[in-house]
Amino acid sequence: MELNDATLFRQAALVGGHWIEAGDNGIAVDNPATGEIIGRVPNLGAAETKAAISAAEIAQKEWAARTAKDRSVILRRWFQLMMDNQDDLGRILTSEQGKPLAEAKGEIAYGASFIEWFAEEARRVYGDIVPGHQKDKRILVMKQPIGVVAAITPWNFPNAMITRKAGPAFAAGCAMVLKPASQTPFSAIAIAILAERAGFPKGLFSVLTGSARAIGGEMTASPVVRKLTFTGSTEVGAELYRQSAPTIKKLGLELGGNAPFIVFDDADLDAAVEGALIAKFRNNGQTCVCANRLYVQDGVYDAFAEKLSKAVGALKTGNGFDEGINLGPLIDESALAKVEEHVADALSKGGRVVAGGQRHPLGGRFYEATVLADVTPAMAVAKEETFGPVAPLFRFKDEADVIIQANDTEFGLASYFYAKDLARVFRVAEALEYGMVGVNTGLISTAEAPFGGVKLSGLGREGSKYGIEEFTEIKYVCLGGI
Ligand code: ADP
Repeated sequence: MELNDATLFRQAALVGGHWIEAGDNGIAVDNPATGEIIGRVPNLGAAETKAAISAAEIAQKEWAARTAKDRSVILRRWFQLMMDNQDDLGRILTSEQGKPLAEAKGEIAYGASFIEWFAEEARRVYGDIVPGHQKDKRILVMKQPIGVVAAITPWNFPNAMITRKAGPAFAAGCAMVLKPASQTPFSAIAIAILAERAGFPKGLFSVLTGSARAIGGEMTASPVVRKLTFTGSTEVGAELYRQSAPTIKKLGLELGGNAPFIVFDDADLDAAVEGALIAKFRNNGQTCVCANRLYVQDGVYDAFAEKLSKAVGALKTGNGFDEGINLGPLIDESALAKVEEHVADALSKGGRVVAGGQRHPLGGRFYEATVLADVTPAMAVAKEETFGPVAPLFRFKDEADVIIQANDTEFGLASYFYAKDLARVFRVAEALEYGMVGVNTGLISTAEAPFGGVKLSGLGREGSKYGIEEFTEIKYVCLGGI
């Protein structure tokens, strides 16, 4: 890999301020576009996790005692270093995750924006003075950092899923012990290197690579860890929830989604197609807010299917380092197998391919950008998250009916719809049982807004002014004898 600063690619983990090199027995990380091994990271477990947590416990106290402005200045420096190294961070990201380089650099800017935002929010963690209940009493409410935070993050956004947790945690005065996904550890390691350069105190931020079970087990069992923040599957989230019960940890869970994308008769169809391309095909369909079920009203179904197929047909799939590529490979063989299963299942139950529909001629982990028509609720795509480049089009008749269908899922993360009628916009936005609703837009994630889901999609919100609250505890002080 060609980097301007080769030291940002490091085959090591950071444990309590000490680097541990991978060696030949480390876990191999490959490039999903080529299958080539790009490097190794150490296979760490419970002992190193324990050491990282102990170091974090010490560092956190000193960090919390600083002024909010001091923390803010260091975070701001970290943000700036990410932006100064955007090209290199983007290259590292594409090489381990596969997304097109332009999209990877976009993720670096998006990821860095959480550090910038929370560097600003660090100084605005206000308490309250509440009118007392007795003449001689005053009620003070203060917000204090929750303490040591453990974070477990996925491979689909190797940078941003970390910064969205780390930004508010460090801003609030917490320390963090992170386990990034084993498929994409190098992006995490690179930002830890930049954190050191930004002036983070030793031990405040550890990055542990290795066994998810061993590291996660120690994180959840430790009484020192007061909060666990996780982004990943609902299955693993539920397991971590169970494991965290004995120590009554605060939990932030960003889990799976099954987003509906509804196109009403009165929608601007070209805008809806553009929104669907972003909501469905960004990151090759591998985001938890990706449109999973596209409901199109009867009157515009055929026109929308035709326009979308045409647009999807123009998307270019390939190695993320090549020019003009829109879609990269899927992350691994099991992701590819799931996409194949979902398409085969839809076809066996009467679905019809209108674009793509098979593995890409490039071979490897590439799959064609696909549009399926005549999709029904009986098919797997209606119930499960596909996490791949497949847009299934369902037909619906009226608003009441589509709301029932859209809400007929155990998930509740993102939802989208396109309509012009103002009354309808309000009715539908209020009726969708989701944490987030995009109206006439396919892109909703930003540092300023609260990201999160309801039902099996998780607990808590990330980003926005609400995001920092998740890393604080409220303390009530009753002043008497006044
Ligand atoms: P995805 O479906 O995005 O791969 P997973 O939920 O399988 O999501 O994994 C997300 C993150 O959780 C990864 O970092 C993974 O290593 C970690 N993980 C998986 N299983 C466990 C576990 N039992 N305990 C702790 N972490 C886990």
